[in-house]
Amino acid sequence: MKAAALKQAIKTEAYRLGFSLVGVTTTEPPPHDDVYLDWLASGRHASMGYLATEMARQKRAEPRLVLGSARTILTLAARYPSPASIELPAPGKPFGRVAAYAWGNDYHLVFPPQLRELVSRIQALTVQPVAAKAYTDTGPILERELAQRAGLGWIGKNTCLIALGHGSYDLLAELFLDLELEPDPPFSLDACGSCQRCIQACPTRCIRPDRTLDASRCISYLTIEHKGSINPVLRPLMENWVFGCDVCQEVCPWNLRFAAETGAYQNAIFPGLSPRPGIPFPDLMHELSLTPQSFNRKFRGSPVQRPHRRGYLRNVAIALGNSGDQDAVEVLAETLFHEPEIVVRSAAAWALGRLNLPPARLALEKALSIETQAAVTGEITLALASQ
Ligand code: SF4
Ligand code: SF4
Repeated sequence: MKAAALKQAIKTEAYRLGFSLVGVTTTEPPPHDDVYLDWLASGRHASMGYLATEMARQKRAEPRLVLGSARTILTLAARYPSPASIELPAPGKPFGRVAAYAWGNDYHLVFPPQLRELVSRIQALTVQPVAAKAYTDTGPILERELAQRAGLGWIGKNTCLIALGHGSYDLLAELFLDLELEPDPPFSLDACGSCQRCIQACPTRCIRPDRTLDASRCISYLTIEHKGSINPVLRPLMENWVFGCDVCQEVCPWNLRFAAETGAYQNAIFPGLSPRPGIPFPDLMHELSLTPQSFNRKFRGSPVQRPHRRGYLRNVAIALGNSGDQDAVEVLAETLFHEPEIVVRSAAAWALGRLNLPPARLALEKALSIETQAAVTGEITLALASQ
């Protein structure tokens, strides 16, 4: 098969497996390593130390370290549902919000079998063994830069990879191949232009001018990666986000107007990424009573397992505090009295203080008389002082 026909046949197989965008690039180092190194040097990766290890820096600067014999990188985008694609729950019980990429199964589990299948189809096309290594989630910039260089789209001011007429609701994956394919032309347009919507809409103002994020303030980082207590200044800004945040994508015109005009919302969702019941808008009061067993049952195979039960319930307690719903006092008080995890009790104390209701005050006073952990008594004292 001629090289151009082989490339097209490989792309066709990737589309058949459910990927929505496919591009080809070389294994040359990505162009903007300096931005990444500056981002690390300024500590804006917060506690995500795995992004700053020597190995992570080297692999990022030199993609060939991923697979020594690689001559081509296939970059692939897999569509997940748009947050606008399902209706908000009817007014009533307070609900949380989960970032749309996490509504379905964990892409770390969903991608590998499809990528293995793609490799075997490539081998069938070339009629020879092809060394290959699949990569997903390699870091905050590398895969987006590779995708831009493979012509998929541009890196928006919100740091997401955005494709014309398609938007940014995609997860990225790469397939390093020991196979020579003609690279696609890079996407060279900055279609953000003078738009600032994501910067203005970001609840914590963490989008920086150099198209990086201050992760230590980003709700996505805080609700998923951050361990321990969350900075009290940022808690009200989290509103009802309990896992991730979609605000800077929801306001992007390339996801709103232009994608809708071109029918991109009808693009097929990658197999396994469709919403699982009860995940997009969880009932916050119900979630706060999840036991370790019921948490594992509900989120088995879901990205929401990443912060573990303790991180998730911390986020749920904060969201309940932000809900202003007086019915939340009872479940928050139960949590404050009986929850074993210190970080969850601390968040419950803060939430009761934020609700600022007489029964919440009573619960805080009672908890102060029985609580033994300094971190929690500190939160209770602050919560009482704020009333
Ligand atoms: S995910 Fe949310 S908090 Fe993070 S940059 Fe986007 S809008 Fe801001
Ligand atoms: S909201 Fe505007 S500035 Fe932000 S990524 Fe979208 S087009 Fe670019």
